[in-house]
Amino acid sequence: MLKDNLSRVYENIKIACEKAGRDPSEVTLIAVSKTKPIETLKEAYDAGTRVFGENKVQELDKKIDALPKDISWHMIGHLQRNKVKYIAGRVSLIHSVDSYRLAEEINIQAKKRGIVIPVLIEVNVAEEDSKFGVSVEDTEELIRQVAELDGVKVMGLMTIAPYVVDSEENRWIFHKIKDLSIDIAAKNIDNVSMDILSMGMTGDYMVAIEEGATMVRVGTGIFGERDYGHI
Ligand SMILES: *Cc1c(COP(=O)(O)O)cnc(C)c1O
Repeated sequence: MLKDNLSRVYENIKIACEKAGRDPSEVTLIAVSKTKPIETLKEAYDAGTRVFGENKVQELDKKIDALPKDISWHMIGHLQRNKVKYIAGRVSLIHSVDSYRLAEEINIQAKKRGIVIPVLIEVNVAEEDSKFGVSVEDTEELIRQVAELDGVKVMGLMTIAPYVVDSEENRWIFHKIKDLSIDIAAKNIDNVSMDILSMGMTGDYMVAIEEGATMVRVGTGIFGERDYGHI
């Protein structure tokens, strides 16, 4: 049951925080509801969930309209420039900025609305498994460019680790991006914060928390397996 799943995830977050000497209040759970129907999201909402993550603009748009206004929505998927206008101002955070061109478009849409849009820079630490994300080597340069856009605010880094059976295999990835965020924070770049580290999914969020995650993105662990046949 969804409610039991949620309790289990919160309990695991607590355990991982204890192990790492961290306070559970430092970690935000993003309930990744992609492919799930509105009724299921309502159920999660009634169980107390107020932070949801989606990866497709159209689906996100539909769900924002259908659900209560006190939800914080996170765009966690790859974002095309021509779709930025549909979510600008409607999401709390865009996790997937990996190019200056995308950041420029977000800046244009932010300025049109007189807002500043918070974003994370997606870093492809593992390299072989994902085609999205900037390389570790190019991250600082991209951040320095994006920092010049006053309609966009870099809040930290995000990474998607590969699917592994043993979550320990991903520990080095989480460690490496944490190190990178510390390095970048030390440069004190104007208009850049490194407060957020979005990493860890159902299979590895406890390890990610031990390595410093401040946002974990959990789908299957809350909602069960996704059925792509019904979307
Ligand atoms: C789907 C997705 C998740 C959640 O994955 P689970 O393994 O179901 O927890 C997290 N992050 C991103 C970017 C995703 O696309």
